[in-house]
Amino acid sequence: MKKDIEIAQQANIKPIEEITHQLNLDHEDFEPYGRYKAKLSDSLLHKLSERKNGKVVLVTAINPTPAGEGKSTVTVGLGQAMNQLNKKTVIALREPSLGPTMGLKGGAAGGGYSQVLPMEDINLHFTGDIHAITSANNALSAFIDNHIHRGNELNIDPRKIGWKRVLDLNDRALREVVVGLGGPLKGVPREDGFNISVASEIMAILCLASDLVDLKKRIARIVFGYTYEDQPVTVEQLGMEGALTLLLKEALKPNLVQTIENTPAIVHGGPFANIAHGCNSVMATTIASKLGDYVITEAGFGADLGAEKFLNIKTRAGDFTPDAVVIVATARALKMHGGVSKDELAQENVRALQQGITNLEKHMETIQSFGLPFVVALNRFPTDTEEELAFIEKWCEERNVRVALTEVHSKGGSGGLDLAQSVIDTVETEASSFTYTYDLEDSIEEKISKIAKKVYGAKGVEFSNQAKKQMELYDKLGWANLPVCMAKTQYSLSDDPSLIGRPSDFTITIREFSPSIGAGFIVALTGDVMTMPGLPKEPAALHMDIDSSGNAVGLF
Ligand code: ADP
Repeated sequence: MKKDIEIAQQANIKPIEEITHQLNLDHEDFEPYGRYKAKLSDSLLHKLSERKNGKVVLVTAINPTPAGEGKSTVTVGLGQAMNQLNKKTVIALREPSLGPTMGLKGGAAGGGYSQVLPMEDINLHFTGDIHAITSANNALSAFIDNHIHRGNELNIDPRKIGWKRVLDLNDRALREVVVGLGGPLKGVPREDGFNISVASEIMAILCLASDLVDLKKRIARIVFGYTYEDQPVTVEQLGMEGALTLLLKEALKPNLVQTIENTPAIVHGGPFANIAHGCNSVMATTIASKLGDYVITEAGFGADLGAEKFLNIKTRAGDFTPDAVVIVATARALKMHGGVSKDELAQENVRALQQGITNLEKHMETIQSFGLPFVVALNRFPTDTEEELAFIEKWCEERNVRVALTEVHSKGGSGGLDLAQSVIDTVETEASSFTYTYDLEDSIEEKISKIAKKVYGAKGVEFSNQAKKQMELYDKLGWANLPVCMAKTQYSLSDDPSLIGRPSDFTITIREFSPSIGAGFIVALTGDVMTMPGLPKEPAALHMDIDSSGNAVGLF
């Protein structure tokens, strides 16, 4: 089997102008960024504003194995298949972070014959958006420390600064640090820490902003800490919103690329779904839905994380709701949910599937609870056996659930024609009656309780003393009516990664909250989920190289 990178390097990639031509874009609508990438102009969204939205298809999944279950791959493959069926389709994906690329995953631009190109660029630095976000985030940190060093006019309590520095890498050694050491000329010492850049509130803001003006307003609202009197301090009080917005002016423009089959794809914004809201930018999805009759977009990890937040957070910031959902399931992850260990997933085990399929069942119920029609995409891996696939298909058919065996990894769009036809039939025949999990007027406690019960299947929620005090404070500060962004492990429906399948009789523990007032949500941290990941024992980077002609080798 060819490696992803070999397939990508042999693909017939077209100059980006051919893709913009396909989308009927004028010269002023885009700025080429090298030969195969373009930034879409600020004015494009405005120009398209009167155009009707295309149908929005959200791709989500069951709780994954650490390697991922192929959501990006299926998203790309489905987009390619839709175009083969003559439906004008645009794909909207997130930008990969270097953390997982160098760490566990090795890439996030799809896989096999369903990839976005140029995959090396997209996986490594791309158009620099994440660097701009890192710079904006750290510029604020530097200004906070400088403000304190220069006399602290705002009376900021250095012990209550929630704003951390960021880096787009997995680096556990930086989780907790002390800055300002070395005497009076080197600043005021305080405890700080690093998050991965994709967990920065700046990333969330960029993804939820509707335009440049909204971006600046949201940045001004950021609460980075508190005074000695427990009053929140904002970026506006520091006078930094102009400079931070300026740093982000190019990053805010969505990136246009293409797939292996030259289907247009907008790849923009990349928050993780376990520690952030997990969706690509509102601007990218909106533009895609104006340019295509269909937009295929994904939200990270399982439906308990990315899809929940797409539906309860992103749709509240944008002007769209999905017309249909695709739930990606794999035999290997369902076997894992049936108790099979990671190194035995390649062996046939229908009995484990029978147990593990309850995980899929729960995610189907969750999507139904949002009032959305769905199709199950059974993403076929080379190790799957006929018996295993037949079992899953029959299980779905017995429940009148649309299921499509999907082979987009090995065959590209033509391996996704059944899925595409199922999605089209679903959109054309089943109405969506979308409802949120909670109302904004619900208290923070009620919102979390509804998510935990309806989406995770928990019996209740416990709050630490710290979390309880924070809820009281947020109530007083008028923040209680914001949506909640849950930070939770991706491996389980619960907050304990070892509870596989469909756990019941469990409670969720909220350890603490962190307000993202600029983004417009309250982050609720459960279990021991970390906002700065660590590297695994054998990082993916160990297999990466570059040859003497400058070609990336062994990337993925
Ligand atoms: P997700 O978006 O769910 O995290 P990805 O689409 O990034 O998952 O896929 C994870 C990895 O699995 C990638 O390396 C991809 O090439 C590989 N992969 C996905 N689907 C298949 C498949 N059907 N057969 C083989 N490998 C696959």
